[in-house]
Amino acid sequence: MRVILTLAAVAALACTPALAADPLRVGADAIRDQALTDPTAYAVVESLSTEVGPRLAGSEATARARDWGIAKLKALGFSNVHVEPFPIIAWARGPESATLTAPYPASLAILGLGGSVPTPPEGVEGEAVVFRAYADLLAAPPGSLAGKIAVVTQGMARTQEGSGYGAANPLRRSGASEAARRGAVAYLVRSLATGVSREPHTGALNYAPDAPKIPAAALSVIDAQQLERLAATGAPIRIRLQLASSTHPATSWTIVGDIPGTDHPEQVILVGGHLDSWDPGTGAIDDGAGIAIAVAAARLAGAAPHPPNRTLRVAMFGAEEMDFTNAAFTKDHVADVGDIVAIGESDEGADDVWSVQLPAGTAGLPPMRALAASLAPLKVFVSPEPARFGGSDIAGLAAAGAPLIDFRQDASRYFDWHHSSEDTLDKIDPAQLNQNVAAWATFLYIASHSDVSFRPTTTPPTAKP
Ligand code: ZN
Ligand code: ZN
Repeated sequence: MRVILTLAAVAALACTPALAADPLRVGADAIRDQALTDPTAYAVVESLSTEVGPRLAGSEATARARDWGIAKLKALGFSNVHVEPFPIIAWARGPESATLTAPYPASLAILGLGGSVPTPPEGVEGEAVVFRAYADLLAAPPGSLAGKIAVVTQGMARTQEGSGYGAANPLRRSGASEAARRGAVAYLVRSLATGVSREPHTGALNYAPDAPKIPAAALSVIDAQQLERLAATGAPIRIRLQLASSTHPATSWTIVGDIPGTDHPEQVILVGGHLDSWDPGTGAIDDGAGIAIAVAAARLAGAAPHPPNRTLRVAMFGAEEMDFTNAAFTKDHVADVGDIVAIGESDEGADDVWSVQLPAGTAGLPPMRALAASLAPLKVFVSPEPARFGGSDIAGLAAAGAPLIDFRQDASRYFDWHHSSEDTLDKIDPAQLNQNVAAWATFLYIASHSDVSFRPTTTPPTAKP
């Protein structure tokens, strides 16, 4: 029986090259298989999350992250390694606390939202108004929250493609201004999280220019559930919140390195992740994993037996979480859009890729048909939907015409830990991380070793018969 199985396995292996006569396909398959056991990505994210640790944009840690990025790209054989600085207004977290003061004293687990103004040193205290649905806060009339603390306890749906996060985003991004418009003195939002934990999840807010700026924080899911039950009893709830944040002008840096193309070095395939992270964890899944995937995939595709015709460029973006990279990177590179063959960012954790979205109308091109065949054993399919969102840091260049690719990852577990103290290396499954590397490396190999164009072509007019 064992002999028969072995012979069958040999026969299957022998069939593969014969079926894959296209040299592009043969090369892509080889890179894919090599990626599945390549140790680079895990070593990179382990190094970043351990040696640099948390790295909030504008903090002292980001200078260490910059030096780490330069050294890592050079050590891995990238050339033209350089730093692209840009100015930011850095936000720094100070001491924080939240306390239930009525109907009984108890501590609440919170994290200030990125960009939140501080409270006065003595804090703010007020009656809490608990909204189980964000829509109910939006329906509250002006003035109805005067002097009160607005609390939104709406939960977030767990979905494979992360759409629950997009749907819940306004609660964190806009809730403080909406509460302030109705008179609230502070805003608490249930963490945008899929797990049930006492660890709160932070993230940036955006103040509306026409509303007072009030302090805002994320409550742990467990504390939000507790407040929801307490509110249902009808007992008056009072909360005191103390946040000591500050802002200062700072510099952020995007680190860039190349594997130069031979025939067309000016044609660039640009991939990256973001180097900054939130401060409570070590930024392993968000977005050390993305950095690791981009670096490892580009290195593998560039180190193939035949060097790439086109340049593979990796960017470690400097300040994604507080929304600063996109404007700066777009301004610096909008003139280069014509040279960008494709652009993509890995920023959805470290779990398996399940589909790839390509620029509209390109899935049927022969090199992309080869890509689809090469990706199939990874359980990755080329989506019939074109890429629409491929990462915050490259959104401006994509809007300016850089052809966008989007590798969709399984986000089922991602938001259990995202933006919390639980974003740490142990959440990364090395096999799933390498499946990402394999998918990206296969694409990068094909795009850099072919002349595929993702730009819309103008069909020549057909002659009338
Ligand atoms: Zn991210
Ligand atoms: Zn993030």
